[in-house]
Amino acid sequence: MSEVIYIDGKLFPTAEAKINVLDHCVLYGDGVFEGIRVYGGRVFRLAEHVQRLYESAEGIWLKLPISQEEMCKIVTQTCEANKITDGYVRLIVTRGVGALGLDPRKCKEPSVICITGSIELYPEEFYQNGLGIITSKVPRTHPKSLNPLIKSCNYLNNILAKIEAIQAGVPEAIMLNHQGYVSECSGDNIFIIKDGVLKTPHPSAGILNGITRAEIIKLAQAEGIAVQEPELTPEDIYNADECFLTGTAAEVVPVIKVDERRIGNGKPGPITMKLLTAFHELVKQ
Ligand code: PMP
Repeated sequence: MSEVIYIDGKLFPTAEAKINVLDHCVLYGDGVFEGIRVYGGRVFRLAEHVQRLYESAEGIWLKLPISQEEMCKIVTQTCEANKITDGYVRLIVTRGVGALGLDPRKCKEPSVICITGSIELYPEEFYQNGLGIITSKVPRTHPKSLNPLIKSCNYLNNILAKIEAIQAGVPEAIMLNHQGYVSECSGDNIFIIKDGVLKTPHPSAGILNGITRAEIIKLAQAEGIAVQEPELTPEDIYNADECFLTGTAAEVVPVIKVDERRIGNGKPGPITMKLLTAFHELVKQ
């Protein structure tokens, strides 16, 4: 955990970093956030994360008090203050303090919070041998209800799917969209490989447009692997040759079983491992 936490222009020792209980982020989950990685002293794809934070804020009519450049500086300065060389950054913008009641106009000023910490990856065994996942019965939020492109501080839709996964004894769950097509997992994007083609749901399927997802698509294209963003059914996943998940925290993790069905030969596939290795190389650059 951080030694100091940034809140609205000041760095506080962790024990003294406090926010007001009347912040609408506490009361209603009214805010947006980012999870970012630091590798070898450099913040990975910081500009992209900050851009997505601003897009999320725009999506909930939250006007940020500072520029994207200033937001980037907050992240790098908090990392420097905590001497983070490899770790995780949680950047949060809350609606701010206001009286009870949903009306965001009650909140005069958003709060910007930056926390740094160590990262907890999946156990190493999962990266080598792959993991089993399930399909959740909880549908992903309808894009017209709360677009999953918005990384809001209300993650209950995802948490319900995560609970289902935990109850089934697996670490992740696929979420289907309102049409029954695959969207993403509770905290990761999903990819499959079928007949040499890399496939992942299009952002319009109702997903978070993952920063890791974008990097994997670029790496695949650089390797000459065809990439498609089609509608995917649960059967497409079951019948895939390979499957893997991507996310800032998870990086690239192979999936070998979905709803007790074996994917491919039940071992992490060669294209998955190639992309996993390429991603590890990329973050070192
Ligand atoms: N989908 C969801 C719902 C997420 O919360 C995340 C981030 N943990 C992702 C996908 C992956 O996105 P990124 O690669 O930008 O971390």
